[in-house]
Amino acid sequence: MLSSSFKEHIAQILGSPIIKADPVSGGDISRAYCIHTSTHRYFVKVNERENASKMFLTEKLGLDTINRTNAIKAPEVVSCGQYHTSSFILMEFIEPKNPTSKEMEAFGTQLADLHTFPVGESFGWKQDNYIGSLAQSNKNHPDWAYFYVYERLLPQLVMAREKELLSSYEVPSESILLNRCQHFFPEVQPALLHGDLWSGNYIISTQGIPYLIDPAVYYGHHEVDLAMTRLFGGFSSKFHAAYAEQIPIGPLYNERMDIYQLYYLLVHLNLFGRSYYPSVKRLLKTYFP
Ligand code: ADP
Repeated sequence: MLSSSFKEHIAQILGSPIIKADPVSGGDISRAYCIHTSTHRYFVKVNERENASKMFLTEKLGLDTINRTNAIKAPEVVSCGQYHTSSFILMEFIEPKNPTSKEMEAFGTQLADLHTFPVGESFGWKQDNYIGSLAQSNKNHPDWAYFYVYERLLPQLVMAREKELLSSYEVPSESILLNRCQHFFPEVQPALLHGDLWSGNYIISTQGIPYLIDPAVYYGHHEVDLAMTRLFGGFSSKFHAAYAEQIPIGPLYNERMDIYQLYYLLVHLNLFGRSYYPSVKRLLKTYFP
């Protein structure tokens, strides 16, 4: 529960007394609450980890950046802060509902709008961020395959080897990774990605508006977000059809879906352990023998 002094601290930020704070379930990193004032509801995530304040600041930057495109909505952040040993992020509360197929269609179109929003020429981001609770390096590269190998696959492969979740012989060499990625990746334009688009990271509001939450943004190949939407499900065929109408699918799409899912599977292997090993092993054997 939120202590009464913590609630008082938030009330001061909001300039309005807090009537109640209800726990919100569903996150795997922080505690979350819906804060009620007499006129509004807010969402707050609280975490005591050492890196939590940095995590919340990068989350705010991601949400603000998505919002600034006007392509798709993200909750407006009110404040990021520290109260005693707790870090917190306070934002607009979005009341969720089960999406209709029309709303999923609109979501697909808006995600495509986000992905076609003009950005710079390089892949990466202005700062590193987090994927789940793991650090995600966003060092800039002019070449997509280099970015994907050096900032995505290799750091997770090395971590998996260090945690003894993969053996040294199972980790492909840099040259194999690069060579195979260059083979499967087309000429790619950087796009602003959500970066961690599983079904728990979007909300369709009671007004039927799609919102992106909990992003791990960077400039990358737009198909990376699609690969994540397809990894664990929760995105309808209407969503995918509406997206594909805006951004058609190119050759070797299925192979790239696998290679982009490999990153997320490696992240899951490193975060949650061995149950993800068989999928990782299969993809490594198929694409990077
Ligand atoms: P974590 O970073 O701990 O994984 P999440 O950002 O995934 O936490 O959020 C935890 C829960 O709160 C999820 O069920 C999510 O749907 C919900 N949630 C996240 N942001 C909001 C928001 N702005 N308004 C309402 N619910 C939200």
